[in-house]
Amino acid sequence: MLSHTFVQDWLFKDVTPSLIEEIQQYIRRPKRNEYVVLSTNQPDGNLACFALELRSPAHADKHPLFDSRSCKSIFPLSVKRVDASFLVARGNVVNSLFGKQGVIIGCGSVGGFISEDLIRMGVSSLTLIDHDILSSENIHRHCIGWRGIGLPKVEVLKVHFSNAFPNVQINAFSATAFDAIQNQKADFSLVDFVVVATGNPAANCFLTQYFRDKHPGLPVLFSWLDPYGLGGHCLITNLKNSRGCYFCLYGDDVHFGCNRASFAHMNQPKHFSKFISGCNSAFVPYGCLDARQVANLTIRNLEKVLAGKETINAIVSWKGDPEAFEQAGFQVSNRYKQSEMELMDLQHNFADENCPICGNNF
Ligand SMILES: [Zn+2]
Repeated sequence: MLSHTFVQDWLFKDVTPSLIEEIQQYIRRPKRNEYVVLSTNQPDGNLACFALELRSPAHADKHPLFDSRSCKSIFPLSVKRVDASFLVARGNVVNSLFGKQGVIIGCGSVGGFISEDLIRMGVSSLTLIDHDILSSENIHRHCIGWRGIGLPKVEVLKVHFSNAFPNVQINAFSATAFDAIQNQKADFSLVDFVVVATGNPAANCFLTQYFRDKHPGLPVLFSWLDPYGLGGHCLITNLKNSRGCYFCLYGDDVHFGCNRASFAHMNQPKHFSKFISGCNSAFVPYGCLDARQVANLTIRNLEKVLAGKETINAIVSWKGDPEAFEQAGFQVSNRYKQSEMELMDLQHNFADENCPICGNNF
């Protein structure tokens, strides 16, 4: 039977004296109605929650919880939990990403999918940095699709994620990585990780130097795709006391088309970019499944890093199907010809001792 005495007894059961004092002060203030959520432990260890609405009589000048005369009626309400710890646990086993804060630099197809799935895994805050505009040509390989065409990608993603997920804080900066850092748009000392998915080697080299100098030990994961679904890569860098960086993949011969991790051979008969008839803009062919695959690879490796299961810088790759790539007239690299086992055995063995950023003399 729902009565004022029942509610008061429950409310003050197993409560500390200081909290009783706090509640008593609160209910001295008049109020027309009040919502109370009560919980109890079940034999299986789960928490059962239920809620009540208490209403005061018309023209009453007291809080409905004050005493039995100040409470006119009590209504039971059903309760649905939407807090992050409950919602995330329902979709994922316990993971090291929950509650973490991160920055995503580059919010195209790969960065968009990474951001979306990091939120699903329960990160509490993401800062998105990208200077690009969402264009119609990319709607079938970007998580946003058609919405927001012509607007800054980060602004559209912020609205999309904030509407879809109530428990994440999204910050958006429509700027290049260089400008965002120059203008101190993100406080990297407060975050747990950075994912770089710019697909731009020059920007990635700048970021490599920046994080090594200013934030050593902060996990920075680079994520990118080879063309035509040939594969994708996740470079884990900047871990504490570990050598090997993005620049190591280029060495002296900075060839901004391919690097040492690439599954595409460095010497190719033509550029990878393609033109669609009647369309002025060139694009590098890859599909949404390729972008999702490398996003998945990146998140799984980030999860390992934050769980302390990966403590050494590493290059981890996913091998795709070479058919479309070879049919277009291109050649795969020797690294592509390595077996999955060989790739795994060599994943920590990529540091260049002559690297101008992390080599022996620097
Ligand atoms: Zn290096």
